[in-house]
Amino acid sequence: MDHIVGIARCSSYDREETASALALAADRAGGLPQVTSGEVLIKANLLSPSEPELAVTTHPEILRAVIGELRRQDGDIKVHIADNPGYIFTGEDALFSRTGVGELGKIGGVTVGILADKGVRAVKSQGFRVLDTAMISGRYLDSPYCVNASKLKTHVETEITGCIKNIFGTSDTSTRKKCHNSTSQKRLAEAIVDLFQIRPPEFNVLDAVVGMEGDGPSHGAPRHLGFIIAGRNALAVDWAAAVIMGYRDPLEVPLFAAAAARGIGPARRDEIVLNGADWDELPAAGFKKSSGLVRLFPTFLRGLAHRLVAISPRLVRGECVRCGICKKVCPADAISDEVSDGKRYPHIDTRRCVSCLCCHEMCPTGAMRAHKNLLARLAASSRS
Ligand code: SF4
Ligand code: SF4
Repeated sequence: MDHIVGIARCSSYDREETASALALAADRAGGLPQVTSGEVLIKANLLSPSEPELAVTTHPEILRAVIGELRRQDGDIKVHIADNPGYIFTGEDALFSRTGVGELGKIGGVTVGILADKGVRAVKSQGFRVLDTAMISGRYLDSPYCVNASKLKTHVETEITGCIKNIFGTSDTSTRKKCHNSTSQKRLAEAIVDLFQIRPPEFNVLDAVVGMEGDGPSHGAPRHLGFIIAGRNALAVDWAAAVIMGYRDPLEVPLFAAAAARGIGPARRDEIVLNGADWDELPAAGFKKSSGLVRLFPTFLRGLAHRLVAISPRLVRGECVRCGICKKVCPADAISDEVSDGKRYPHIDTRRCVSCLCCHEMCPTGAMRAHKNLLARLAASSRS
């Protein structure tokens, strides 16, 4: 089966340039599916209350351009922009004001909110490989039309976060903890594909104007890439993202391999029709991938590799504001309080820790570092 992916160059988030590049990418992908109802859900990546220039969240100009593109079909359409952040530590107002997304709620017919505002519902296994039940946003399940507006970033666990990983955010915290509570990267990949299969979005837009490199998805470095990518198949769009990030064979990424094995994403590059650029033009020179290195080892050595090439959380106390988020998000209950100088700091029980790095991902100050041992540092430098 051929998957059509549209790609367009976009040098900045200038409003006019972004709108015309997004329209071009969507047209090259065959256009958005026809709107069939009065409301469209845009599932953004609003991982945390971060300013757009930090490249943690989908840029508001990309979301504005998606709204414009939808309204080319039907000027009266209502749009709701939403996400379930990993953990809201400053309140919803700060989330929407810092990400710039709140401004979009001032456009007539556009609302902004939390994806779980109508509660979550249990979804029983639909051929799941890891989960037996998942708790999913009712609004997402009930939405007849969803545009998945994601951000190209690295990810310390899944290597890439783009369209398929953005759908992980439709689940609740308990489901995410179940997915993360293992040292197996393959298990996590299968769990994310389980969630994705429940209700794939109708269309996907990937913000790769400025992406994130290094140890994403929260604390990597912004990297100008200059693309907007679009398409109906999330994995095909992510494939183009992986090539931009320097993966010669995106099936190296467990998430892509798991999706391909279930037939919900491409298994070969020649199953994708890329309109708007040649594959050879995509790789960003010197792009710094994440530190997810265990997969470089053959399967029978991965258990050993996990112990040798270790990436683990490490607290920098001077930067810790003692908010307790790391303890709340830890799926293995490996974090407790430790009192020092009369103050409570997080303490990690290394015997319980499964190195999922959720604490690192959600720490608002970056105090919980992703610490690489010597082998991990050597392997990382050989990859970048
Ligand atoms: S301490 Fe951090 S890395 Fe370890 S299991 Fe908990 S959240 Fe994951
Ligand atoms: S390490 Fe980060 S998340 Fe944990 S208490 Fe400190 S500031 Fe909060």
